[in-house]
Formats: sequence, C-alpha cells, structure tokens
Amino acid sequence: MSRPELLTVARLAPFLMEPLQAAFTVHDRLHESLLDNDTSAFATAAPRIRAICGSGESKVGADLLAQLPALEIVSIMGVGYDGVDVAACKARGVVVTHTPDVLNDDVADLALALMLDVARRIPQADRHVREGRWPQGNMPLARKMSGARLGLVGMGRIAQAIAQRALAFGMSIAYTARSAKPALPYAFHATPAALAAASDFLVVITPGGAATRKLIDATVLDALGPKGYLVNVARGSVVDESALIAALQKGTIAGAALDVFENEPHVPEALRAMDNVVLTPHIGSATSATRQAMADLAFENLAAHFAGRPLPSPVPECR
Ligand code: NAP
Repeated sequence: MSRPELLTVARLAPFLMEPLQAAFTVHDRLHESLLDNDTSAFATAAPRIRAICGSGESKVGADLLAQLPALEIVSIMGVGYDGVDVAACKARGVVVTHTPDVLNDDVADLALALMLDVARRIPQADRHVREGRWPQGNMPLARKMSGARLGLVGMGRIAQAIAQRALAFGMSIAYTARSAKPALPYAFHATPAALAAASDFLVVITPGGAATRKLIDATVLDALGPKGYLVNVARGSVVDESALIAALQKGTIAGAALDVFENEPHVPEALRAMDNVVLTPHIGSATSATRQAMADLAFENLAAHFAGRPLPSPVPECR
C-alpha cells in the first residue's frame, strides 16, 4: 500500500522529520509556496494530503483546511494548539492531537529559573562580571525569592509542576483558573486581579487563544504593584504587551521575565531596552530530551491513527 501523504506546517527537527519521511510521503511546508504565488505544486498534492504535522506555534486555519479535502488528522508537537482552528477541524471530522505532560518538567524548570533571574538579576550580574564592571563596585542588592508569595494564573499540568518546585523554595502558593481545584492545597482566587493583589510573583501558564487574550491587562498589573514581578511562560497573547511595557516604564510593577511574546520572533525594542526585564526566545520545552519525547509522541499519534489504534493524546475537544 502507498504511504499516506503528510504536510508539515513548521520547520521540524530531524528527529521528527526522519521517522515521518520513513512512514509518509512528506510535503515539507509546501503550502508556504502559496506566499510566492507558486500554487501549482501545492494544488497538485493537496487533494491527497491526509495528515498535518506541526509545532505549537503552527497556524492551521479554516483557509488551509478548506484546501485539504482528504485531511484526517492534525498532529501538533507541543501542548499548546491555539494556532489550530479546532472547531473547523471537528466540523470536518479531522482529529487534533498534541503532546501534553512530557514537557511539564522543562517548562516548570524554566519558570523557576525566570523567577530567580528577574528577582536576583542573574543576567545583569553576568553582564556586570563579563563587562569588567566588578572592580568599580558591587551590584545593587536584589530581591529574595524564597518565602515569597507565588500566584499561578492557570492550575493545569505545568502549573502544578511549578507549584511543586516553589514549595521547595518555601513559597506560599495561590492560583486562579476557570474553576477551583478543591483537591489541591492552594488558595483559589476568582480573578487574575485578585490573585495579583495577593502575589509577589505572578506566573502565567494558561493556554493561548481567544478565551485568554489579554487576560493580564493594566488592571492586573496595577494589582500586582510596584514590588511584584510578572513571569509569562504561556503565550504572548495572554498578556497585553502594550500595557506591560507601560507598567514597566512607569514602575507600576517591579519587573518581568518573558519567554513568549505577542509577535514572535519579534520583541518590542521597548522591552529589549529595559533593565528590569529578562527575555528568552520561547525555550520552555527546548531541551534535547524533552523535544525528543515530544517528537516521539507527535509521531506516535500519527502512527496510531493510520494503524487504527487508539490515539495516545488527542486534544480535549477531540476526546
Ligand atoms: P493545562 O493542563 O490544560 O492547564 C491549563 C490551565 O489554564 C488550567 O488550569 C485552566 O483552568 C487554565 N485556564 C484555561 N483558560 C483559562 C482562563 N480563561 N482563565 C483562567 N485560567 C484558564 O495546560 P498545560 O499543559 O499546563 O499547558 C498550559 C499552556 O502552557 C499551554 O497551553 C501552552 O500555551 C503553554 N506552554 C508554553 C511553553 C513554552 O515554551 N513557553 C511550553 C509548553 C506549554 P481549568 O483547570 O479550570 O480548566
């Protein structure tokens, strides 16, 4: 039997591309040729494409779906799938899968690292030494993290891994989410603003998409206050970036550490210019071990679908 045809919608790492190429006829980002007005190759292949494989940042919109009449499955290598129009997929009977859990440790590790970075000013301290400024004087004193109040916006898989780590730092933990989790020993606040008012570190770890767009706005930042730090490891869309820049410039909050941005990979000059900000380029899950585990799970979802086996990790809407 001929191999199923698959479209990639991200530049995928070799450790995913190689197994894909062994099992599928892969059209590597062929739809992007549309941007160059070269529609012929894509138009020829499109009616035969039965699978899409992409990353957490991939866009799979209704326009692309409409061009793929034989599509059966979208496999995302990432836990967030806010770029996928899941409603349009479901309406067409297309199943969507993602890679939850295998990245919890790495994203939680990064969240704690960013909290320490912004409070203890570790990137600035590194620059202080490298740039030969130490002989002229010591760094200004920084902020203690152990024992501080952590507020988690979201209390899902990754947030719970962050909370476990924060307990080892003697932090008190509170959270907001769509619903309270009575089984967890943490205080629930009904809104991000109420949580921010009770937090020293506000860490954002919800999904992206329309439901959480600008959930962290000027009101929440005001509530966090001039001694509070914002850490975003969720999606850039969850934070009102203009309001954040204004809050940092005015001293409404003490600082921010950001792994995600509204318009990646472009980061506003205003953020890059500020000294009370730590910036990383969306590296939450970016270790070799975790990316391999994510690739294996993304591949296994595709393999299971075409072998008629139960899918390991469909998104909640497709269960
Ligand atoms: P999860 O287990 O589904 O948890 C999501 C949490 O967000 C849940 O507690 C949920 O509340 C809460 N939530 C959803 N909508 C909300 C809203 N409108 N207001 C308040 N809370 C809301 O997801 P996860 O596995 O922890 O992953 C979370 C997200 O992290 C992903 O979707 C992705 O965007 C991001 N992420 C980023 C990186 C990175 O590289 N920086 C890596 C991996 C993941 P309920 O529990 O009440 O439903």
